[in-house]
Amino acid sequence: DKKLVVITGTSSGLGLATTKALLRTEKYHVVGAVRNLDKMRVVAEEEGFNMEHFTPMHLELASFASVHKFVEELEQFRGDRPIDRLACNAAVYQPTLNYPKWTEDGHEQQHQINYFSHFLLTSKIMPMMQGSDDARICMLGSVTGNDNTVGGGGVYPIADLKELDGLELGCKKPIAMMDGYNFNGAKAYKDTKLACMMTCNMLHERFHRSTGIAFSSVYPGCIAETPLFREKRPWFRQLFPIFMKYVTGGFVGEEEAGQRLFQVLHDPRCRKSGVYWGWNGGPREGREDSLEKGGQISGAGGAGGGWDSIFENDQSDK
Ligand code: NDP
Repeated sequence: DKKLVVITGTSSGLGLATTKALLRTEKYHVVGAVRNLDKMRVVAEEEGFNMEHFTPMHLELASFASVHKFVEELEQFRGDRPIDRLACNAAVYQPTLNYPKWTEDGHEQQHQINYFSHFLLTSKIMPMMQGSDDARICMLGSVTGNDNTVGGGGVYPIADLKELDGLELGCKKPIAMMDGYNFNGAKAYKDTKLACMMTCNMLHERFHRSTGIAFSSVYPGCIAETPLFREKRPWFRQLFPIFMKYVTGGFVGEEEAGQRLFQVLHDPRCRKSGVYWGWNGGPREGREDSLEKGGQISGAGGAGGGWDSIFENDQSDK
């Protein structure tokens, strides 16, 4: 009856806001894959989650062993029900590190948490989607991973995987970067986001027709308030949201960003595969636009979705 959704990183930010929107519809059962179950339980209680429709499950993305364990637990939990949605949302952002931090598997942390583990998770969950009549896999990208945009191309460093020499060599200690060049924390984050977007395009090309799964990536807007920026310096954390709001117009609140990812998972129009979903221009413009046209997404949630400003950015040439 209820569609089964797996989201990584539901204990804060976008993952949490998206989960709230999904639960409001009463059409989904959400498995929240989190590294800290205690935190998740507290957050779920604060938010008043209906625990009949929400199952927290442990997943530490900095460990492949943990991914395998999570997959086993998920298999048991789902029984013979298919998984209908997977949102690869969890991430860390470590732009100010001067040296790479390594995971237990010997990969640079941002690479394993944001990308490698989600790649593994996706490959394990795809077969569990068999039998779903509306299976979707969505990865969180970013304009910072797209050098066509001001946010991605105008701000140093630029995401660039070059010839993937580092990845070919295993991207393991002491090789921190997929391009094989020296570690740069900000670039590492952008590279992982670019890799997620490219992976979705590739999965679409190779597996959409044979599996029916819709693969997409999404840029939710700049959610300058989330803890993602926790590793930035305090002055930055204070000024960044203000800067984004008043100067660039690229700021979205957590609720609205959650509404966007919710749409990509929920809206029938987002069953399309091979798409990079984004919101064109400043969300202020988008929001006014959508309000003028009465543009609310139908169904539950409805926190001013801004659907009208959604655009498809077909990246197939990338
Ligand atoms: P948050 O930091 O609020 O949320 C990240 C989530 O990932 C948290 O729930 C966190 O868990 C979880 N997480 C971090 N490390 C691990 C790990 N090792 N294992 C398991 N889970 C982990 O960030 P946002 O909500 O802002 O970001 C969500 C997604 O949106 C990311 O993919 C990000 O790249 C993307 N994005 C964000 C933008 C923004 O402006 N914020 C812009 C563009 C894209 P915990 O609660 O325990 O910390």
